[in-house]
Amino acid sequence: MTLQPSLTLRSPETAPLGQGYPLVAVRSLVIRYGSITALHGVDLEVNAGEAVAIVGPNGAGKTSLLSAIAGIVRPADGSIAIGGEPLAGIALPDVVRRGVALVPEGRNIFGSLTVLENLRLGATVRSDGAVGSDIEEVFASFPILGQRRNQPAGQLSGGEQQMLAIARAMLSRPRLLMLDEPSLGLAPAIVDRVYELLQSIRARGVAMLVVEQNAARAFALADRACVMSHGAFTLTGTPDEIARHERFDAAYFGVAMSAERSPT
Ligand code: ATP
Repeated sequence: MTLQPSLTLRSPETAPLGQGYPLVAVRSLVIRYGSITALHGVDLEVNAGEAVAIVGPNGAGKTSLLSAIAGIVRPADGSIAIGGEPLAGIALPDVVRRGVALVPEGRNIFGSLTVLENLRLGATVRSDGAVGSDIEEVFASFPILGQRRNQPAGQLSGGEQQMLAIARAMLSRPRLLMLDEPSLGLAPAIVDRVYELLQSIRARGVAMLVVEQNAARAFALADRACVMSHGAFTLTGTPDEIARHERFDAAYFGVAMSAERSPT
């Protein structure tokens, strides 16, 4: 299998954003599932074109944060704004129309649908006439997806499914691409290709929020990094600052510590 690590779909053409606002502004976000509080008042900003990595142990709240920004999980308290516009009360397709796309943990490929049908699902929020040519561009970048366009996506390898999931998300022409554990379960050589693809998407100015257990991979991609533990950020800074921080190992492995900012 040859995975070509590039995807050059055109610039986002989603709804205009308020000028002068961060792409995403998360303020004092609280997420609860019944009696479980997954996020305890998280603040985060992602600016246009910026890549932010979030690392931390299982159960830290990383998926909950991405799900809330994607509009899948609703906040118990606090707020999320996209380009200055509050997310509260916005229907899921409208979150995508504002330029937010999520590649979920486990990829959520529909195994019984064909590769082509999976890709079309990524473009359902679009009304422009360029979806067909964008899909052809995906097939040009990933010939294996083109060859198997009419086969069930469940027959693809894990790496091919991850590429399909990323391509599907890109078909909504997002400003912000969020990825939950994109390296999970993949061989190192395939992870290389996935991260080369992410670098190429990033180079086109698409902002990224990447949740990873594999901190080294995500840090190599990111402008900024955050360590999450027990529903809060315990370290934030540049990837270099975080990786060299004396408490990084403890924070990364989820040893309880008080919230603090890394030295700047
Ligand atoms: P992982 O890497 O294991 O996915 P995570 O850092 O992404 O972990 P979350 O999945 O956001 O963390 O989970 C945060 C907390 O919320 C955990 O205690 C988890 O058990 C709980 N949780 C997450 N989703 C639900 C749910 N749907 N119902 C109940 N509790 C949940």
